[in-house]
Amino acid sequence: MVRFGRTHGVLFTALLFGVLLMAACAPVPVPATAPAADGGAASVAASTELNLLCTPQVQWCEGMKAEFEKVYPDITVNFVRMSSGEALTRLRNEKDNPQFDIWWGGPIDSFVAAAQEGLLQPYDSPNLDNLIYPDLYKDPDNYWAGVYVGSLGFATNQNWLDEHPGVEPPRSWDDLLKPEFEKQLMVAHPSSSGTSYTALCTILQLKGEEEGWNFIRDYANQVFQFTRSGSAPARFVGQGEAAVSIVFSHDIVAAIESGSPLVLTFPEEGTGYEVGGMGIVAGARNLDAAQKWFDWALEPATQELGPKYEAYQAPTVKGAAASRPELLEVNLIDYDFDYCGSNKAAFVDKFTNEIAAADNLKE
Ligand code: PLP
Repeated sequence: MVRFGRTHGVLFTALLFGVLLMAACAPVPVPATAPAADGGAASVAASTELNLLCTPQVQWCEGMKAEFEKVYPDITVNFVRMSSGEALTRLRNEKDNPQFDIWWGGPIDSFVAAAQEGLLQPYDSPNLDNLIYPDLYKDPDNYWAGVYVGSLGFATNQNWLDEHPGVEPPRSWDDLLKPEFEKQLMVAHPSSSGTSYTALCTILQLKGEEEGWNFIRDYANQVFQFTRSGSAPARFVGQGEAAVSIVFSHDIVAAIESGSPLVLTFPEEGTGYEVGGMGIVAGARNLDAAQKWFDWALEPATQELGPKYEAYQAPTVKGAAASRPELLEVNLIDYDFDYCGSNKAAFVDKFTNEIAAADNLKE
């Protein structure tokens, strides 16, 4: 079942010891050359702007902007933070007049869908060689590359547990259907959130489509409120608005680090995971700057910046240490990104039309 969970664990431990030495030797980013629009007859002025569609939490987007601008002081990064589904819709709407140059972050299911719809362009970055598992962490035709990895977990409010003696935090997907959790789940809507889409597609893979959709119908009935953003439910559950949220475990760790009274558990029969993606937008106006970002984001030193901005996702490149390797040392399913990416539009439509509309989403 586990494609790389244990391998990752061993690898991360080894990397932990080797990383300081390797980080010290981390290569300086090599500026990429912009292909000349005229085929190379005349040189093209280097871009001074980069328009970034940024899907992770806003602190990390701000941090990455500042770090990139330190390395490339001649480029100003303009970013907009959007959840995965919203970002995909935006790219679809702007297909004939793209406003963004590069999309960074959010589960690759959406990048698989975007590449199939002609919204991304391939880039054969020299730093693709840095990827630990190229088969898993990049598109075969280089339309996207993975920039982080994270597993799904459950966050339960400890104060709520104290007020409900005998109730245990969920340790199985089926536990979410227990009567004590009726209207006590808080989760993002899969139309807007890549996190929630990962949960939906995990259930479909674990249970099969027929049983999976029945389960998802019952699970949606347990939900007190849907949010737009995938990580927001951890914060709301920390504030006591509901008892349990289904969120990426690194976001639960971030909420705990910032003082939320949350208990992190995992479904023992297997949990889904994400590879956070990155891809250059088809028709990007600032292609040279987008390629610089792409190369830079695949540097070990760049991927080790996460914890500075409360991002505890695991890196995808060799020579970068995971800040929380234990988050991947759990029972991970053999998540099929092609299946989930190719079916994303259909599964989201089915959920929205037949189970829970995307109206009145909180934050
Ligand atoms: N923010 C963080 C911190 C994440 O880890 C991820 C996952 O890729 C996302 C956002 C994705 O956002 P959403 O679920 O809102 O699409």
